[in-house]
Amino acid sequence: MTRYVYSFSEGTKEMKSLLGGKGANLAEMSRIGLPVPSGFTITTGACTEYYNQNEQLWDELLNELKAKLSELEGKMGKKLGDSKNPLLVSVRSGAVISMPGMMDTILNLGLNDESVVGIANATNNERLAYDSYRRFIQMFSDVAMEIPKYNFESVLDRVKDQKGYENDTELTVEDLKYIVGEYKTIYRMQTGSEFPSDPLEQLLTAVKAVFSSWNNPRAKTYRNLNEIPHNLGTAVNVQSMVFGNTGETSGTGVAFTRNPATGENKLFGEFLMNAQGEDVVAGIRTPQSIEQLNDIMPDVYSQFVDITKLLEDHYKDMQDIEFTVEDKKLYILQTRNGKRTSQAAINVAVDMVNEGRISKEDAILRIEPNRIDELLHPNFEAKAVSEATVLAKGLPASPGAASGKVYFNADDVVRSKSNGEKSVLVRLETSPEDIEGMDCAEGILTARGGMTSHAAVVARGMGKCCIAGCGSIKIDENAKIFTVGDVTVKEGDYISIDGGNGEVYLGEIPRVEPELSGSFEVFMKWADEARRLKVRTNADTPKDAQTAVNFGAEGIGLCRTEHMFFDSERIPVVREMILAKTLEARTKALDKLLPMQREDFIGIFKAMGSRAVTIRLLDPPLHEFLPHHDEDIKLLAESMNISEKELKQRVDDLKEFNPMLGHRGCRLAVTYPEIYQMQARGIIEGALSVKKEGLDVKPEIMIPLIGTVQEFSYVKALITEIADKLIAESGVELEYLVGTMIEIPRAALTADEIGKEAQFFSFGTNDLTQMGFGFSRDDAGKFLGEYEQKGILERDPFQVLDQGGIGKLVKMGCELGREANPDIHLGICGEHGGEPSSVEFCHRVGLDYVSCSPFRVPIARLAAAHAAIKEKLGK
Ligand code: PEP
Ligand code: MG
Repeated sequence: MTRYVYSFSEGTKEMKSLLGGKGANLAEMSRIGLPVPSGFTITTGACTEYYNQNEQLWDELLNELKAKLSELEGKMGKKLGDSKNPLLVSVRSGAVISMPGMMDTILNLGLNDESVVGIANATNNERLAYDSYRRFIQMFSDVAMEIPKYNFESVLDRVKDQKGYENDTELTVEDLKYIVGEYKTIYRMQTGSEFPSDPLEQLLTAVKAVFSSWNNPRAKTYRNLNEIPHNLGTAVNVQSMVFGNTGETSGTGVAFTRNPATGENKLFGEFLMNAQGEDVVAGIRTPQSIEQLNDIMPDVYSQFVDITKLLEDHYKDMQDIEFTVEDKKLYILQTRNGKRTSQAAINVAVDMVNEGRISKEDAILRIEPNRIDELLHPNFEAKAVSEATVLAKGLPASPGAASGKVYFNADDVVRSKSNGEKSVLVRLETSPEDIEGMDCAEGILTARGGMTSHAAVVARGMGKCCIAGCGSIKIDENAKIFTVGDVTVKEGDYISIDGGNGEVYLGEIPRVEPELSGSFEVFMKWADEARRLKVRTNADTPKDAQTAVNFGAEGIGLCRTEHMFFDSERIPVVREMILAKTLEARTKALDKLLPMQREDFIGIFKAMGSRAVTIRLLDPPLHEFLPHHDEDIKLLAESMNISEKELKQRVDDLKEFNPMLGHRGCRLAVTYPEIYQMQARGIIEGALSVKKEGLDVKPEIMIPLIGTVQEFSYVKALITEIADKLIAESGVELEYLVGTMIEIPRAALTADEIGKEAQFFSFGTNDLTQMGFGFSRDDAGKFLGEYEQKGILERDPFQVLDQGGIGKLVKMGCELGREANPDIHLGICGEHGGEPSSVEFCHRVGLDYVSCSPFRVPIARLAAAHAAIKEKLGK
């Protein structure tokens, strides 16, 4: 029989997939002797069975729970529901991969009309007892019965109003007793039954509620955003409660062993005296910094500091630790690897290598390649920012710079994004329901909350700019305005926020590229030492090429020459060329284009120095370049000296039913050889000219859309004829390569034939995916979302390489190509070349390089290092 419940003393940190991250860590902390309140964990397996609708689950679980409860009661010397010495427990979710705040928690379970008296007597604090009781009824009703919180909050507000109180702490025991009665009435009215007084019934209902919170909408969104599988299920931790709110010798807090925003190796955290855990996380009261605990309770502080060191040593990573002090006794409630900004992640990883705690390989594997993306993005321009009006200052909760229109709720942000706007989400404080809006916003600004508030933690995890606790802004969410002094900012007005210094500015501020130095450079150097795969870039202009070189690109893997044709000066000449009726007229237009193309290539060669440059000849269907508006047609007709009617007729003739599968790529060269010949001439003349200046170039000329070796041989001959002649005439020695894209499935299938002729292959996985799946690149967006939602496709295959299908074509293409030509050079230049899992695949099938857009170059470098290290470690 499967076992569903484990005491903390029975587990270890290795049992994460069964006990969830939190359960495994609680077990591990108990095992190494830390002061952890006792408890047990219900496994993720039980949750999975719950979703499988296993009918025996509840009988079996009940038996195990009874046994574990009495064991816990024995250990604690307290009994659940007892009127003298009652045990109270918390019931918390704990997924295998942490999903902070996404699922539900119930605290103070076990309270009823008898045990509340027991708690009052045991703690000598009747107020605490009834305060806990009313919190429990509200939480249980909300989480397990989905009774909206406002029902309860309105009672609380009414009592506070009647009594003229400002804070909850002013409520007296009598007030709280009255509130408990009112809460129970709400429960009865909403559910039709009495609030359950049997603690076992409370427990079973709570466990069920936590299981179902695995599938609440915000948890699902979080999993989608973070690529967490939906079938893992959550564990449930049942732990004896300790109280941070018994008075001024108690408190609760959260601390990180290092600064989660910068990575600085210094304890970083906050606590609140006389409070429960949720008060810190919810950000409703402003906490004190952890060092201040030293003034209030020096012994507890020094014990806590020792434990934080021990935990970091033990887990060899920065820890996020929740603690509670009950009457001067310290308890550790939870530890986990702390969420951190990408900058902090790199700094911590590099520091930990330097401190001798982890290896370089560990450090590299700790950084998810996609995370470094946020380091590569811009900051505010220094001059513009110095001239901007600082409106307010809050806590610098998550670095980065964002400008956008102000919106006051998550739905409005989502809507504004779908209208193509950039926005900043401004809230009193955020809660897990805001997750989608936070994802869609450029940045987040909250009036309340500390550095560990929901907004701060989630924004850091998303790598999104955030300012929290900006108390000087007064938000009126109903009127959709906020004010600072006499300045009013309305919905739709622009503001800018700097999550690095906490400053809020009026208006939009331009941004500049980031500088990558310090730990980032060290870290990327280690990644470069570890990888085998080379990383090139897809760049069509010297500027993009330069950006990519700054990011570490080792060459250009794809220069799409068609982008050079769209320049406003050139497009008329390109149109003349396309619409020419005779070879003579076309050659005339091509002659005008030649010097421009030559200059383009010279620019690119110079930007790349001696690095490899692959230039692809013209690919798209010609009609893409043609005028579509009457005004343009008129102008062109005049300049070509033909009638508008005739021109329109020519344009119509060039229209295709299915241009993606039509007259494009090398097919253009079969019908109009002179176009590729002009381009080949431009490339070779450009290369010869820079070679004469001493630059060591070796151009790689790439033919698109090849499907048969005969096509390839035909087009290659056009190129080599011109190229060899030019080189011979110049007297300069110049090597060049001619290769092909492999982007038509037939090319992959006959790569043995093509490989005999081609000097390199570059897998064009955009078209290969299009043609392999039969999904139009232009239309698939309309239905792929449904495919993902319905689980028919796990990921959009245009973003993440379909390794099982399209990947097989790539693998076969590599193997056949290499068999035919052991010297063949293999790369990829589809969008997948910058997507980490696809890059790892490229490593495994033995490509020589990946090529991706400039901003993804560092991501690809890191992904390539991951691939090499995982291979070495047999992971
Ligand atoms: C490809 O098809 O993968 C490719 C890189 O070419 P393009 O996207 O220009 O069609
Ligand atoms: Mg293509």
